[in-house]
Amino acid sequence: MSRFLDTKFAALEAYVPGEQPRDKKYIKLNTNESPFPPCAAVIEAMNGAAAADLRLYSDPTSVGVKRAIADFYGVAPEYVFVSNGSDESLNFLFMAFCENGAAYADITYGFYQVFADLYQKKTTVVPLEDDFTLDPAKLKATTETLFIANPNAPTGICFTPDVIESLVTANPERLIVVDEAYIDFGGESVVPLTQKYDNLAVVQTFSKSRQLAGARLGFTIANPAIIEGLEKIKYSTNPYNVNRLTQLCGALSMQDRAYFDKTRTAIIENRAYTVTELKKRGFTMTDSMTNFIFAKSDKISGKAYYDGLRERGVLVRYFGKARISDYVRITIGSREEMEALVAATDDILAKAGE
Ligand code: PMP
Repeated sequence: MSRFLDTKFAALEAYVPGEQPRDKKYIKLNTNESPFPPCAAVIEAMNGAAAADLRLYSDPTSVGVKRAIADFYGVAPEYVFVSNGSDESLNFLFMAFCENGAAYADITYGFYQVFADLYQKKTTVVPLEDDFTLDPAKLKATTETLFIANPNAPTGICFTPDVIESLVTANPERLIVVDEAYIDFGGESVVPLTQKYDNLAVVQTFSKSRQLAGARLGFTIANPAIIEGLEKIKYSTNPYNVNRLTQLCGALSMQDRAYFDKTRTAIIENRAYTVTELKKRGFTMTDSMTNFIFAKSDKISGKAYYDGLRERGVLVRYFGKARISDYVRITIGSREEMEALVAATDDILAKAGE
């Protein structure tokens, strides 16, 4: 490491993204992307004149995409902040809204820990129960800014809005951040609660249910005072945080509700198919409300399953962490991809039984 790097970052353990392999063509079920292309309007815009405008800076207010998000959720645009992926929203929330520290679950989105370390925040880590659910009473007992991935990752388990509301009302003096990266695959968003409570921020992404992971677009919906704070951080770090093409793609994809519904419904159906098939083969799974499943075999270890799939050209995610080392996380892809996963699983289990 360079001797010029601030010593306070020397021991920082950075987030490790899922692999984006280049060595060969995999069935890629490891980073919860959509198997479907962006909607037709996005493809058309990207193939057309929009690229010529790249010589100009992007609109720092991101007004078009902000309006599209606000319309979709029926809130005023003043309630919306847009970011370079939802990771940037989370980054700013950890940076600037955690004066009293941050609380989150022991098994959740790994970036929370990284941001907390980066900003050297005091943290309280709330352990999940043995069945991987979160006990709301344990969350209520914390006092820091609370980050909840809902549904949680990598377990896929989701709270209903009444539970989130009970957390929000339990202590109006602390901020609750609900990360709804996967909410469109079966859960119910708490965006409507932002109209009622000023201590709730809801973070979402275009990466999972809107086919724009590579465009990097996320957003936060919260009371305008919180949005103002996020804008202040944005204008103090990177005013043009969302590029022109991404702003356009985001607005167009928000407006195409039919495609959004068609693709998320397909994922939900493919999830049901995969759960049924893996259960038949002795797997147990958490009750996932996301575009992935968290699965454990009764015959082979998580690592052996991950390796076996990889050898057969199917890439999934294995964390190898305490408590979850028996599990792999499998993104739900197209029906053909899930059939290939099931076939590869049969082959692995047959070899293991020999
Ligand atoms: N939250 C959760 C729970 C996630 O799993 C992810 C994806 N890695 C993100 C946020 C960030 O997604 P993005 O930055 O692509 O919007």
